[in-house]
Amino acid sequence: AGNDDEVANLAEEIVAAFDEPFRIGEHELFLSASVGISLFPADGLSVVDLMRNADTAMYRAKAIGRGRYHFYTPEMTSEAQERIRMENLLRRALENGELAVHLQPQVDAESGKLVGAEALVRWFCPELGTVPPARFIPLAEESGIIIKLGHWVLRESCRQVMQWRLSGFDLPQLSVNLSVKQLERPEFIDTLDDILCETGIDPACLKLEITESVVMAVGNAFNLLDRLRNMGITLSLDDFGTGYSSLSYLKMLPVQQLKIDQSFVFGIGINQGDEAIIRSVMALAESLGFEVVAEGVESEAQAAFLRALGCQKLQGFLHGRAVAPAEFRSRWAIR
Ligand code: C2E
Ligand code: MG
Ligand code: MG
Repeated sequence: AGNDDEVANLAEEIVAAFDEPFRIGEHELFLSASVGISLFPADGLSVVDLMRNADTAMYRAKAIGRGRYHFYTPEMTSEAQERIRMENLLRRALENGELAVHLQPQVDAESGKLVGAEALVRWFCPELGTVPPARFIPLAEESGIIIKLGHWVLRESCRQVMQWRLSGFDLPQLSVNLSVKQLERPEFIDTLDDILCETGIDPACLKLEITESVVMAVGNAFNLLDRLRNMGITLSLDDFGTGYSSLSYLKMLPVQQLKIDQSFVFGIGINQGDEAIIRSVMALAESLGFEVVAEGVESEAQAAFLRALGCQKLQGFLHGRAVAPAEFRSRWAIR
């Protein structure tokens, strides 16, 4: 009975041993340990099984934070298998044409006129049904599939916008989400250049949405973003306010637009803290010269609050969900 407690105590001691920095010459090194625990005989009868399950538990420990320990449970294995299955299905999805780009309108806050659209990828999987991006984008990022997937979305949406243009429907601007994994690739700029040439889209019509974490994670982010700027592409900071970019950092970034995260928009009329954050983002944007678009706008009351603060553009269910290109065109072409 006391066995689990004893093991947990031991794990805690191991983790605690890493609280102190290691001294190498005159350097102090801070390390942390993550411990996965599997027990004989419940979690395995062979060394191989015990090691594998301890390993699985260690990844879980890592996932909840540094310096933690976790006991193995059988569900971990089924979750891991589920992930592998989904990863394989996702890989196939690209070749099989199971992915589609949907478009969500962005409108001028004052006039309600269409100013652009955000490309949002959709996955219709024969085995799993419609899988929401919140489930497969993180998986695509961890597995590296996002690189192919992201480029496909970019190419496909640019192609769509050009096809529209040639047939008389002008979308003023196209926004595409960019993953940190794409930006990190040395060939990223070349691939982007190829897509621009191939589709013939005017770079001034293209906006790339990046998150604050992207900017923090990519070593030469400033340099890369500058190159994108020099190509004439617009840059937008997505989910703004949910990360922790420092203000001095923000000032130096070559971005033109801040995208207020929907979690704050949802708080309008409900949570004073959210309203205060929106007010300060608007003030910040004004003094630093950024344009602001709000996402997740569902009600007229939210739109009115944002408009009154000078937010230039709105995106949300109030004006339209992300829909297939044909539906988008028939909704917006004649207005
Ligand atoms: P995001 O870029 O912040 O996109 C906005 C998300 O909010 C979309 O969810 C959109 O459908 C949803 N949304 C828009 N208006 C409203 C509203 O009024 N109410 C509510 N409740 N939701 C609204 P979606 O399409 O599920 O995408 C989720 C996330 O997945 C995106 O967040 C983006 O981070 C990622 N994603 C989607 N497509 C791509 C892609 O092609 N590449 C990359 N790297 N990420 C993508
Ligand atoms: Mg976005
Ligand atoms: Mg967002």
